[in-house]
Amino acid sequence: MALDPLTMLTLSIALAAAAALYLAVEWRSVRERSLLLWSAGFALISVGSTLALLRSSGLLLIGIWFANGLLVTAHWLFLLGVARFTQARLGRAWYLIFALWVAMLLLPGGPLWSTVMLIINSTLVALLMLRASLLLRPHGRSLSVGAVQLRYVLLLHGVFYLIKAITAALPGTLIDLATFGGQIIRISLVEGVMAIMLIALSMTGTERYRRERHIARLAARDPLTALYNRRALEVRAPRVFAEVGTGRPGALLLIDIDNFKLVNDLYGHTAGDRLLVELSEMIRRLLPERALAARLGGDEFVLLLGNASVEAVVELGGALRARFHQAAAQAFTTPAAVTLSIGVSLFDQPPASLAALIEQGDAALYESKRGGRDSIRLVDRTVAADGPLGAD
Ligand code: GH3
Ligand code: MG
Repeated sequence: MALDPLTMLTLSIALAAAAALYLAVEWRSVRERSLLLWSAGFALISVGSTLALLRSSGLLLIGIWFANGLLVTAHWLFLLGVARFTQARLGRAWYLIFALWVAMLLLPGGPLWSTVMLIINSTLVALLMLRASLLLRPHGRSLSVGAVQLRYVLLLHGVFYLIKAITAALPGTLIDLATFGGQIIRISLVEGVMAIMLIALSMTGTERYRRERHIARLAARDPLTALYNRRALEVRAPRVFAEVGTGRPGALLLIDIDNFKLVNDLYGHTAGDRLLVELSEMIRRLLPERALAARLGGDEFVLLLGNASVEAVVELGGALRARFHQAAAQAFTTPAAVTLSIGVSLFDQPPASLAALIEQGDAALYESKRGGRDSIRLVDRTVAADGPLGAD
């Protein structure tokens, strides 16, 4: 038969070795420890499957007990890798698995030996995989596509081993580990080959998705304040523009710190950085739901709101100005007050572009600066508008 046990084992050896190598190469570029643990797991499967070949030469202790021990250890490393990936801690009980494995040496020989061995071996693998898939369930945070794939692949693998354990316990089931005798063992060898491929692919996918998400986040955020940068705001602004219409105005608030250079000059750049971060935190706290906030650069920030009104915008701007003024005055003594100037553009028709809208906000901001700073200027471009508004 083409799919005889020795052929399947040889395939497993080759595939597991390839998976170990592939994950190790991934680890070299990503340096994520879980990849190394998973790679070591596949290396052990490759070695274990090689040892399993020795059964045909009559080396039963090495070919069965040792080989199966390596299979359990490999799955334990998979679990350890998942724990590392999810930053979860594993209880001490998981380390007792090895004690149980050594105890299996004490099992009496005889016809029951293969069955008991297979039941314990399969149960341990099932437990390890079910625990790993449980660790990968979303804990409040959404999981990446890669992690979801890995979760289900490990779950299926665990369920397969559970069924294997139950089937092995059924009376009359033929199992002979020495000769790979019995249908369960043959099916398991085929499952093993498939599992190696699927698990290895999902593991690399899991790490890649996480890395891509991390890189996308880095590319979208201002490194100092972690608010969106201009490019990220441009990508997201159309969603807000789409909500805007007559009777449902949107607003852009352009915020610039007044006399910020004084903080840098008198207290140092690091103190200036701290103030920028403090302002970004105030913005985050006061930002309405679904509104966007970004740092355009320097001491300039922008807020983009759908579903706005003159009153709401003036209230939001006022709250920001008051809190910022208080925090800056407490932290720094400066010849001129460190405050906020805000230029607002209220609109009810989607603007030609974000840049055009920012330009309108900039004109209002300029008015605020020209009028002596520490104020909010609002240009209402909605249909119902009757001219620019200002508030000190
Ligand atoms: P104005 O009242 O007219 O707004 O003047 P200003 O002193 O606030 O200065 P302005 O807005 O013209 O320039 C912003 C300054 O912010 C220029 C630069 O030295 C400083 N700056 C830009 N980026 C950073 C940064 O990342 N950290 C710190 N600490 N300072 C920055
Ligand atoms: Mg400024």
